[in-house]
Formats: sequence, structure tokens, C-alpha cells
Amino acid sequence: MASKLLVTFLGTSSAAPTKDRGLPAIVLRREGHVILMDCGEGVQRQVLAQSIGLGKDMTILVTHLHGDHVSGLLGLLQTMSLAQRRKAVDIVGPRKLFRWLEVTSDLLHIGLTFQIRFIPVKPGVVLRTPEFRVRAARASHSVEAYSFVVEENPRPGVFHPEKAKALGVPEGRLWSSLQRGRSVVVRGSKVSPPEVTGPRRPGRKVGYSGDTRPSAALARFFSGCDLLIFDSTFRQEDLDKAVERKHSTSVEAATLAKKAKVARLALTHFSARYTTTRQLESEARKIFPKTVAAHDGLTLEVPYPPG
Ligand SMILES: [Zn+2]
Repeated sequence: MASKLLVTFLGTSSAAPTKDRGLPAIVLRREGHVILMDCGEGVQRQVLAQSIGLGKDMTILVTHLHGDHVSGLLGLLQTMSLAQRRKAVDIVGPRKLFRWLEVTSDLLHIGLTFQIRFIPVKPGVVLRTPEFRVRAARASHSVEAYSFVVEENPRPGVFHPEKAKALGVPEGRLWSSLQRGRSVVVRGSKVSPPEVTGPRRPGRKVGYSGDTRPSAALARFFSGCDLLIFDSTFRQEDLDKAVERKHSTSVEAATLAKKAKVARLALTHFSARYTTTRQLESEARKIFPKTVAAHDGLTLEVPYPPG
């Protein structure tokens, strides 16, 4: 029943690309569902390189309206239309994003073959599906900006076959109903899942900061994430630039990750001034050892939390 949750970094640079790093875009993949977080220019070729199926159920989360985080969106939607996509796409982002999409797709004669369900972002739960929900919080950047947490719904508890047998539930269809959290009726009496399963287990939780300064509120928002992806535009020696441009250093990202007690931290959104991210990563690891500096094409599997 358990399925993989994969996070792939499609673009790990900040405002300007480098020859090795594209503009910000990250994809989460689980059971035929694709969740794109930010959509920088060049995202389409990365989507192809990573074999991310564009026909799948799709949710796009946009943190803020800076060109480097949005400029790839229109081309992506156009390509999906050329492929005759019919399934609607959920897009969560600042309200003006929808206006931009309407105006530009009209001016450029992009006839979409599918519906866009646009959800204006505000703090709190912005999207619920049968499998997961998305929460947003205000980030601290130079324009209206948000951070996101994608959180799977709790999983049913561990199934105890001996309890099912003792209650006279025959193996097969009725067992799988109980495992999926549905009550069954056996010889006129009802058997409910808590009678034959352990307590519900938490799903996996991935946080993405977008562009931001660190804050106590964000540390609370990201509390207990299995993977936190955080703005690490600058090295600690460039802290003044991080403060001025409303970004974070890798040390600040690591400090927040430690405070939020996340399982793992991935640094991204590196300034093009650095040719290598080794120093950013090692500075962060001194504070939070389970840190990795992302690179374009890196895929991380997010495991279920223990217990
Ligand atoms: Zn940015």
C-alpha cells in the first residue's frame, strides 16, 4: 500500500541561471500525482530529462511573483495543451498570477485544452485532496511571498489479522476494506477498523520555504517535516546581502531546520556568484548534520516518519 514519495530538484539557482543550475523549480511525485513547486524558466526541458509525465494529476504551487519563479509556467501549460491534456490542473499562487496567465495566454494565442482551477494563496490550508493537503504560511521576502507544506493524510494503522479472525471476519475482500479504513458487516454485526488495526500513522511531510528570511513563525510552520527545502542563497560571510535582499544563508537555514526538528534539510536557490556549494553545505552541516546542498537533477526519496 505504501508508495514512494520522490522530490526532484529541477532548478537550484537563484535569480540568474548558471551553466549548471536552472531557475527555481522542484517536483514532488507520489502515486501518479505531480506537485510542482515554483516554475522557473527552463523547467520544461528538466521535466523531460527527469521523465515526469505531464498527463498525470497535477498541482502547481507558486511561492511569489518574481520572474525567476514563474517564467517557465506558461510554456509548460502550452506544451501540455499541445499534448491535448484534458485533466484540469490546480494552481495555487498569489492572486495576480491568474491575471498574468489570462493576459499572456490570450496575447500569445495559447488555447488551453484543459481547465485551470486557480486557488489564491493565503495562510492556512489551501488545498485538500483524498491523499494530501497543502498548507501555506507568509514568508518574509521583498514581495508578497509564501512557504508551503505538503502533507500526506494519515495512513491507516497496522492491520492485525489475528484480531480480524477472532471477530470472525473472513480473509479477503473484507480484510482489505478494514485495512483501507472502512467498516464491514459480518453476520449482521459491524466490525470497525479500530477493532482490528493499530492507531493511524502520520503521512510524510515536505516543506518548501520559497524566498525568505528565516523567522520563528516559519520554524513553527515547518515543525516536524520529513524533508525541509530552504532558501540558501548566500554563505554566512554574505549575511548582509541576505538581509538586504530578503533571503537566507545556509547557516540560517540549518539553524531553522534544527529549531523545527525536521528529519532532513535540502539547501537550494544558490546565488550564481558561487561556483560550488561545498562551503554552503559544510557551514550548514556544522549546525544541522542531515543537510544536503541540492543540484539540478538531484532526487531524494522521503521516507515515512518512524513509528
Ligand atoms: Zn528567487
